[in-house]
Amino acid sequence: MPKGHIGDRVVVLGGSMAGLLAARVLADRFAEVVLVDRDAVTEAKGYRRGVPHGRHAHGIMAKGQQILEAQFPGITADMTAAGVRPGDFNGDIRWYFNGKRIRPGHSGLLCVPATRPVLEYHVRERVRRIPNVTFLEGRDILGLATTADNTRVSGARVRERDGTGVETLHADLVLDTTGRGSRTPAWLAEMGYARPPEERVKVGLAYTTRHYRLDCDPLGSDLAIVPAPTPAFPRGAFFYQLPGHTDRIELSLTGMLGDHPPTDPEGFHAFAKSLPVPEIYQAIRTAEPLDDPVMFQYPASVRRRYERLTRFPDRLLVMGDAACSFNPIYAQGMTMAAIESLKLRDHLAHGMPQALPFFRDIGRDIDNPWALSAGADLGFPGVDGKRTLKVRLGNAYVARLQRAAVHDSALTDAFIRAAGLVDPPQALMRPANMLRVFRHSVLPTSN
Ligand SMILES: Cc1cc2nc3c(=O)[nH]c(=O)nc-3n(C[C@H](O)[C@H](O)[C@H](O)COP(=O)(O)OP(=O)(O)OC[C@H]3O[C@@H](n4cnc5c(N)ncnc54)[C@H](O)[C@@H]3O)c2cc1C
Repeated sequence: MPKGHIGDRVVVLGGSMAGLLAARVLADRFAEVVLVDRDAVTEAKGYRRGVPHGRHAHGIMAKGQQILEAQFPGITADMTAAGVRPGDFNGDIRWYFNGKRIRPGHSGLLCVPATRPVLEYHVRERVRRIPNVTFLEGRDILGLATTADNTRVSGARVRERDGTGVETLHADLVLDTTGRGSRTPAWLAEMGYARPPEERVKVGLAYTTRHYRLDCDPLGSDLAIVPAPTPAFPRGAFFYQLPGHTDRIELSLTGMLGDHPPTDPEGFHAFAKSLPVPEIYQAIRTAEPLDDPVMFQYPASVRRRYERLTRFPDRLLVMGDAACSFNPIYAQGMTMAAIESLKLRDHLAHGMPQALPFFRDIGRDIDNPWALSAGADLGFPGVDGKRTLKVRLGNAYVARLQRAAVHDSALTDAFIRAAGLVDPPQALMRPANMLRVFRHSVLPTSN
């Protein structure tokens, strides 16, 4: 076996963001990495069936962008050359909370606002260049292959999409990155193991998205307009330029707890008009629609607590949305897949990864972002769940911080860094930030 290699073949189930990022680090440690997907992923330049959420606004957070650039040096330049206009996460995006723009400044954190298909395409192209990575496409993943006593996973069973040609792919390690519909909990039960305990936060969210050619320039030099949902104004939106087009935009409207943005054009416009930020409706009012509105429903955030299991088959790992699917309005999912891929790299450095220690480690990475997004969701009165004192105090403080940030770009910066997963949420509580929040609460218009 070549130096540094720990196995002959690893099979990655799912060739989307988490699978691609994992393949990047697995390729350093296995002679062969096989990415299996039901879609013809390598041909995909636009939307694809296996990732229906890819039709809707997707931005990778600052930390995720940093990891992408570190893992695939030059990828930012590639995307820029392909027409994506980068900018600053603070100064070049118009963030609104409760109808008020938080004061812009300069964060030094790079925002690369590609659509999901464009981002995934560039990551995939980089992975395709890795010589020991192959894509097995147009295959449905049926299940796992195991040893007779079910203590060890030895591969995966796959079938061609036309229903023929079932085969078993033997592997030294199998990684499940099939997204939130992952079958690993069911496979574990069939094999005589416990399913992972699940935490769910029902948010009843929907995104409805439409594309337009504009007849005005509402963005100017800015990259995006983002009225974020808050308990007082639960309707939100992502409005941003399509890569390579100065006059075309993607608009995703978001509504929670069943208040879904309609898919009929009149209803879609009326929803946009009801946002606490008039500039989005004003921009689309006379714009030329390029397609019909399309909806994606997201009933609940789901965290599968694999780290709480005491028994788990050897040679099987799970990551990405298959482990934890975050409420997308906080845009954490792809960045978390990137962070988990680095944890995988660290475990691979010590030999064949052990599942439970790996789950405990990524569980620690998931803790803060999950607390941030699930905690924020519990700020919406209609979301079921236990509102601990910590959650209530945290939400009350963040609401005050957002109000203070309308006057104070240093607080905007602190918020963008925490939301972008660059700093832990605890950084918002640093004495200097608390002092600023307090000062603006007492003197609301000071800087
Ligand atoms: C509306 C919406 C907006 C979002 N916006 C953002 C955002 O702005 N920023 C952000 O970071 N995240 C966002 N997310 C989350 C992000 O999309 C996910 O975190 C990310 O896609 C997770 O990647 P993944 O590889 O784990 O799973 P997925 O992207 O779901 O990929 C799973 C892959 O597995 C394949 N697959 C599944 N089952 C099988 C099977 N049985 N056989 C063969 N192949 C199979 C699929 O074809 C697919 O390619 C958003 C999510 C939604 C729903």
